[in-house]
Amino acid sequence: MFKISEMARFSLLIFFFVFRSICVFASTPEKIDSLKNRLNRCGEESKKTSLLNQLSDVYTDIQLDSALNYASRALELAVKNSDDFGKANANNKLGNIFLKQGNLEFALKHFFDALACCEKFENKEMLGGLHNNIGIVYQTQKNYQRALEYYLKSLQYFDSETNPLVLANTNNNIGLVYSFVQKYDKAIEYFNNSLSLRIRANNAQGIAISHANIAFAQKGKKNYKQALKSYEKALKMSQKYGFKQIQTIVNCNLGDLYAEKNDMQKATIYYKKALQLSEKIALLEWLKKSSKGLADVYERSGKMTQAFHYYKKYKNIEDSVFGIESRKQFQHLEARYENAKKEKELAQSKEENLRLLQKNEIYEIKLRSTIQLSIVLSFLLIAILLLVVIYFRLNKFKSRLNKKLERKVKERTLELEASNQRLINEIEEKNRVEKRLQIARKQAEESDRLKSAFLANISHEVRTPMNVILGFSELLEKECKLTSELASYTKTIKDGTRQLLNIINDIVDISKLDSGSLKLKETEFDLNELLDDMYKVFTADNEVFDSKGIHVFVSKGLQNDEAIIITDKLRLRQVLTNLVNNGLKFTKQGYVEFGYLLRNDQMLEFYVKDTGIGITQEKQKEIFNRFIQLENSNTRNYGGTGIGLSISKELIELLGGNIWVNSQSGKGSTFRFTLPFKQRGQKDISEKKQSLFNWSAFTIMLVQEKENKNRHLKTILEPTQAKLIYASDAPKALDKLHTNPNINAIIIDADMNGISLFKTVDLLKQIKILPVFALTNLTQENETDAFTLAGFDDIIAAPLEGDHVLKKINNSLISCPLPPISKNNDLNLLS
Ligand code: ADP
Repeated sequence: MFKISEMARFSLLIFFFVFRSICVFASTPEKIDSLKNRLNRCGEESKKTSLLNQLSDVYTDIQLDSALNYASRALELAVKNSDDFGKANANNKLGNIFLKQGNLEFALKHFFDALACCEKFENKEMLGGLHNNIGIVYQTQKNYQRALEYYLKSLQYFDSETNPLVLANTNNNIGLVYSFVQKYDKAIEYFNNSLSLRIRANNAQGIAISHANIAFAQKGKKNYKQALKSYEKALKMSQKYGFKQIQTIVNCNLGDLYAEKNDMQKATIYYKKALQLSEKIALLEWLKKSSKGLADVYERSGKMTQAFHYYKKYKNIEDSVFGIESRKQFQHLEARYENAKKEKELAQSKEENLRLLQKNEIYEIKLRSTIQLSIVLSFLLIAILLLVVIYFRLNKFKSRLNKKLERKVKERTLELEASNQRLINEIEEKNRVEKRLQIARKQAEESDRLKSAFLANISHEVRTPMNVILGFSELLEKECKLTSELASYTKTIKDGTRQLLNIINDIVDISKLDSGSLKLKETEFDLNELLDDMYKVFTADNEVFDSKGIHVFVSKGLQNDEAIIITDKLRLRQVLTNLVNNGLKFTKQGYVEFGYLLRNDQMLEFYVKDTGIGITQEKQKEIFNRFIQLENSNTRNYGGTGIGLSISKELIELLGGNIWVNSQSGKGSTFRFTLPFKQRGQKDISEKKQSLFNWSAFTIMLVQEKENKNRHLKTILEPTQAKLIYASDAPKALDKLHTNPNINAIIIDADMNGISLFKTVDLLKQIKILPVFALTNLTQENETDAFTLAGFDDIIAAPLEGDHVLKKINNSLISCPLPPISKNNDLNLLS
């Protein structure tokens, strides 16, 4: 198998076409200056990278050190700015530089770095170029398979828009690989592709090289004729454009061809031409090659002197080439060492940069966190300070408040102590006063009793001489014939004595009533007879009335056979007389009528009606109080003591009835009073009704000034067997209700003095919910409403009608809780 000689391979190597950049710069100092100026002025980092790359590109052809420097700076800047395009470009430049320096390792590394960056932004032309360059490195390392692989990949990235020269170079490089592996047909195919692209691009040098390469492949195929043709074309082209290097190589290759063909003469001619040209342009390699060719040709021709001459020359050149090579190698090694150093420095500086960056970042993070921490701490400090200030302020405020409070408490304590002391004093004083009052009351009660006894005594003593005066005055009138003057004197004595006797009678009655010594004498008598008798007295006896022209009428409510009743006749007459006398006294004209009627078979209602001066509404209740005389000046005209009505009221109540008045000022008055209708065989009317209700389990409290007041009500209630208890005023009633839980109903005498009905009912109901009744002489229709408003459950109004009163109480008791009914009680309660 034909093995390509080292020389031949070397002759091809110089025609590798490296992808640098699409724009080809003229390597002029102007260009360099312009780029440097632009670099100095440029402020934009990405543009700076591009300018540095361009400078590296320009220097690659003239000064590799500078090229390396600029490319390194470009790469550094691009890395710093994360500029992928800049990085790809700078790495490509570095790859080219190291390839030129023969540092294939570094070259390959940078090309691959460039490829990695380039893949991110997919620049097809750059990708194609980089694959081509990697192919060159592999080819230089004689790894033809990988080289071919990358060249072919490179072609995939190129298309119709790709620069034809770039495409031609890759095709040429593929052709070279095929030549090296002696696949000459393939090589010729790619060389031809390259040739046609270069012809299209009108690239003379390229065309010359393509022809030379085609010739080389043809020669490999021993197709000398075709090879000679192509060499001629290459020679012609290079002679035309003065490509001395290509001329030298082609002449030398022609020498080889003819030597191979054993045409020593022609071989000698071409080797000599090559020798001359290489001497001219100082191409030592080709000088050495052509000298060796000549030495071989002369040796083969038997011309040993010439052969020795050229062999010696060859050896000298080889030695010098070796020297040069050694130097070159040394320089190369030195360069590699420098590069490695620079790379190391670069890497170190990168690492340093990275470290610095990291340090910076860490520092920044630390700084940021320190700042944040300081801010937080500052806020915390301020907050704590504020809290401390607030705390102290609050404490101060609190202590001020406390002091103020303490002061106030002290003041209040002192005030309280003072008021306590005052209260104690007041209580003590009150107790003292109460004791004094009790003593005074006892004394008063005692003196009252003594006074009443004295009055009763004295009245008897006074009445005796009075009756004597009256009796003898009447004797004088009847038995002696008196002159009219003496008769008048006698009448005056008689009237005055009667008046005095009446007053004494009243006083005696009052004192008897107060001391409770007034005794009733109930007898059976004819009521109509009593009224007739009284009528006679009033009409016959009184000429004053005749002179006034006042008529007196009497009215009887029962037939004579029915009018036999049982009561205290004397007291009934006393009351009626008092009322009729008042009627006559306060009537100037008209009439006075008195009489009675039977109500509900139970009560007798008496009345005395006059057409006199009348009594105002508000005074109607007062007149039943002692010593009340209305319109003092007027009443003085009428005379009187103001106790007649109060005595009447007390007597009627003792007899079991009620008394009240209906009157209109200026139109007259009607006094009414009731008495139980009692006849023989029926001692008490209420006894008849005994079996109606059985309230033996109930307690009813009567609130009235005196226990013996409202006797009629008592006679109505007693047959029910209810337990009756008494309270003489409101505080006592409240006290009893408190202490006695058995009380089931309360009846309050609404005519009591010094009691607030509203307040009393309210307080009673606060203690216990139970029915409370008002006992009153109902004078007006709307009075019921007033009592209901005051809180009473109902009213018991005069004239009291037994059944009616009991039913009313029973109805209210139904709605209130009742004590349990005794089992023995076979009567139906509340029926
Ligand atoms: P007196 O002795 O003053 O009549 P009474 O107690 O009998 O005392 O009467 C009290 C007062 O009532 C009288 O002063 C009078 O103002 C008034 N009064 C009593 N009856 C009548 C009447 N029929 N008409 C007008 N006012 C009367």
